[in-house]
Order: sequence, then structure tokens, then C-alpha cells
Amino acid sequence: MNDSPAVLTEAAIAGLLVDTEPYLSCDECFERIDQYVDRRVTDPSHADPGMDTHLAGCGACAEEARTLEDLLRQDAEVTSTADTENGRRE
Ligand SMILES: [Zn+2]
Repeated sequence: MNDSPAVLTEAAIAGLLVDTEPYLSCDECFERIDQYVDRRVTDPSHADPGMDTHLAGCGACAEEARTLEDLLRQDAEVTSTADTENGRRE
């Protein structure tokens, strides 16, 4: 009666795909992540469906994106602070 072998259900396959590469592989994600984060910092409404989907399903790349975004924002702050300090030293 129950002679069907263990077959991956569609839901199981979808779960596996969501985990790693919905659109992009991690390699492709890493190639584009600098540009993606840079755009996100200058334009918070910027959306890249492939990247958005990948970051939603991949903790490692999402973490990388967060770190990069922090660095870019700090960079912007440090630059304006440095200008002020230079002015004071004169
Ligand atoms: Zn990834």
C-alpha cells in the first residue's frame, strides 16, 4: 500500500531553493553587493529584486550587506567630521 519511495515534495524543493539561491548564487550576490549597498545608502527606495530575494533568504549575504552599509554610512560621517576638525586645527 505504502510503496512510494521518499520523494521530495514541491514544498521541500521550494524550501531548499529559498535557502540558498532564489535568483542569484552567493557568488553573483557578492559580485553585486558593493554596488547594491552603495545604491541603497544613496537611495533607500532602491530595489533590486534578485538581490532583495537573495538577502532575504541568505543570512551570510544579508550580514555582509549590513556590514557594508554600516561602513558606507560611517565613511560619510567620518568625512564630514574630518572636514570640521581640519577647520579647527587651522
Ligand atoms: Zn548568499
